[in-house]
Amino acid sequence: MTQYLTKVQGMPGSVERTLTDIVRKFTWNGEGRPAVGLDYLCQDTEDGGKKVLDINARNEAIHVTWLQSYLNMEDNRPTWAFVADEILAADVPIDQKIADTRQARVNQFTQTRHSRMITPKKTEDPGQPPKKPIPTDLKEMLRMAKKYNVKLEAILPSKEAQTKMPVLHHAQVHQPISYTSEAAKCLRDKHHVTTINDLLAITENLPRNHLDRCNCICPRCKELRWRTQSTCKRPNKCIIKAQEILESLNPKWDPTKNPKEGFFTRPEPKETGPTMNPVTGEKEIVFNPFTVQKKLTDCIQIFTEPGGNQPDIVTRAEKSGTIYPPDTVVYTDGSCIRNGQDSARAGSRIWYGPHDTRNTSIRVAGPEQSNQMGELLAILHVIKTHPPDAELTIKSDSKYAIEGLTTHLERWESTGWSGVRHAEVFKCITAWSRHRSNITKYIWVKGHSGIDGNEEADKLARRGAEDEPSCEHLDLTYPPNKIPTGAKLAALS
Ligand SMILES: [Zn+2]
Ligand SMILES: [Zn+2]
Repeated sequence: MTQYLTKVQGMPGSVERTLTDIVRKFTWNGEGRPAVGLDYLCQDTEDGGKKVLDINARNEAIHVTWLQSYLNMEDNRPTWAFVADEILAADVPIDQKIADTRQARVNQFTQTRHSRMITPKKTEDPGQPPKKPIPTDLKEMLRMAKKYNVKLEAILPSKEAQTKMPVLHHAQVHQPISYTSEAAKCLRDKHHVTTINDLLAITENLPRNHLDRCNCICPRCKELRWRTQSTCKRPNKCIIKAQEILESLNPKWDPTKNPKEGFFTRPEPKETGPTMNPVTGEKEIVFNPFTVQKKLTDCIQIFTEPGGNQPDIVTRAEKSGTIYPPDTVVYTDGSCIRNGQDSARAGSRIWYGPHDTRNTSIRVAGPEQSNQMGELLAILHVIKTHPPDAELTIKSDSKYAIEGLTTHLERWESTGWSGVRHAEVFKCITAWSRHRSNITKYIWVKGHSGIDGNEEADKLARRGAEDEPSCEHLDLTYPPNKIPTGAKLAALS
């Protein structure tokens, strides 16, 4: 707690008062916990006479909301979370004590270091005084993190998120970083490097006259000496070490690499809303392939799958070099005979144009026979079969499908498509769309209103519904590392 108090002394009066007040009132087992209903945690509870389970689920939900606040790493982080940091930082398993400073123990969810609650309990060092127990509520919070697989998992972390990560024990490295060298110790103890941002300040935009010599007089080396009051004797070595550390990061978490490069030959699609095509007057909406985690807080997922973490950078289909016609328009449609009944038969249809060999109709496989499935599977077929590096415009009369793949996508994805019908199909189309390396556009057309393509598509969809399915099961497999597993912790409410 002394370190915590030291921190308090450097704070503005109002913050200090608030914090002191909180600490005074703060009893970890006290009253006045946030009463928040996290219905999703109670979903498995059966109705009737399961009160005990309800209470249990409620308690779990409360601790998940604590976790949510604790893992809020933005400017509005609650003050108690900093107190929790101090308590957890003091709780280091014996085997992790190696040359660790408090500065190295930032947050176990962004680092490879853990408190005893996450890793199996280690035997206490008999030479040390017995450890104080972790407060019960904090322990419960960490237990929930473990139970519901809370972890750092992102598809495309933004530079802001990347640079906020701690340097020491960085959770996303492809080779462990050694801190035994003089330069590493200098970075840590004299340059006080704590975040990736601190490293970038050392390595970015190196002056042209910088030389790898300890007596280099370039502005950067001068600055590094000045900032350390000349205790850094070899700034050139510190620069090299800083570069090495950055290179040891998984490319996805390396702010010096831009994974977006080369994805588009045209400007990126607007992130929100449809735009009016000035020539045709149609409203078109461009699929946004990037699910960018803007804040570091947004990179924390709950209910993740084991092995679901994606250390690799998101890759997309390579350009084949083929010259395609500028913009291919495809009409998709779904139809269902006896929609809603047990004997329903659904079909999809894809229409490129008159006498086009790519025109086809498909009978929906699997038990779910509905119009919506027909619509979605028609789109999936096009997304999977159209050359991934060619432009594509899909015209569909299904607002449901188009909005689910565009305007709703970010929200649905952040909640793990929880409660979304046909979630697995939406995920599959999204993943294959992200695999595409050229633009995918959607245009909604009014169904059965004499639009040639839609009418043709509709006819074929009906034919599809009459066919026997070509295979028993729906193929909803998709390329890896395109969809985060679980849901965004911060998005749960
Ligand atoms: Zn220099
Ligand atoms: Zn140095």
